[in-house]
Amino acid sequence: MNCFFSYTIQNWFQEQGRSLPWRQTKDPYKIWISEIILQQTRVVQGWEYYERFVTRFPDVCSLADAPEDEVLRMWQGLGYYSRARNLHAAARMVVESGAFPSTRETLLALPGVGEYTAAAIGSIAYDLPLAVLDGNVYRVLSRYFAIETPIDTTEGCKQFRALADEMLDSNHPGMYNQAIMDFGALQCVPQHPDCAVCPLREGCLAFSQGLVGALPCKSRHTKVRDRYFTYLYLRDTQGRILLQRRGAGDIWQGLYQWPLFESSQPLTLSQVSALCPEARISSMASGITHQLSHQLLHADCYLAEVDVLPDWGVVIPETERSHYAIPRLLEKILCLVEKGDRK
Ligand code: SF4
Repeated sequence: MNCFFSYTIQNWFQEQGRSLPWRQTKDPYKIWISEIILQQTRVVQGWEYYERFVTRFPDVCSLADAPEDEVLRMWQGLGYYSRARNLHAAARMVVESGAFPSTRETLLALPGVGEYTAAAIGSIAYDLPLAVLDGNVYRVLSRYFAIETPIDTTEGCKQFRALADEMLDSNHPGMYNQAIMDFGALQCVPQHPDCAVCPLREGCLAFSQGLVGALPCKSRHTKVRDRYFTYLYLRDTQGRILLQRRGAGDIWQGLYQWPLFESSQPLTLSQVSALCPEARISSMASGITHQLSHQLLHADCYLAEVDVLPDWGVVIPETERSHYAIPRLLEKILCLVEKGDRK
């Protein structure tokens, strides 16, 4: 442990760390929920979801007892729905085992819990000496020690893992972990950190060597795949619509959608009409884009009015649409349609 580093960031954390609802508890269940929500979600957005989630499911038993559809509905809008499915499956495992896991190994056995989450829960709830290593920690350590090894290489992972373990304050692992993550999120931020007011500046090698903007290093950029989606919002004369539940092996497993046709480029109106020749087709929204981590989705949506709905999925009254969890992209389309902003 480096005493100056450890003491300084914990001191900073006590004065300037964020006061977040999941920081006021040692309950491993609530810490787990917060960590899973925050895996791919910003704190501001995650906060509201966390409050709603733990109000509806205040303990692991209530989550385990809930139907999966309800858990997904509570998650709607957060994205990365495998997180919600894993939470649900893990809650059932915990209830079956009779106790919340309290060691690194048993935490890692839960679906959706990797090294980072196990370290966060283990250190904060149980004071286990496990160092977290997330994007914030990589950034702070790479800058403080001016390490130029790319963080997305095996060598970089090993080097930073060893350093993170070495730096951990094993007497206060929960506090230290929260401090270094908050420090990265608020002080040593990715773009233009305000080094002039940084309490670590004195020992920071990136600062003294003029490397702040260049660290942390990455070896490659992620390739983004373009996908083209055409949705048919099929509605019959009795005001009923058609939904399909998405299967495994692709994004949004378990969520509902209107019938979707994927193609290598946007479909023309005549191609869309050919999908359901008996329908009266009109455009609801077009040219909508939606960015996922490795995919850029391009979506068009057409209203397809029919006398009789084809046998393509679940038929529901349109008024019950909100009872089903749908991907954020479809929410975006509905929002545009409701605003009358038909592109
Ligand atoms: S001096 Fe700047 S780069 Fe170094 S730890 Fe502080 S904020 Fe980060």
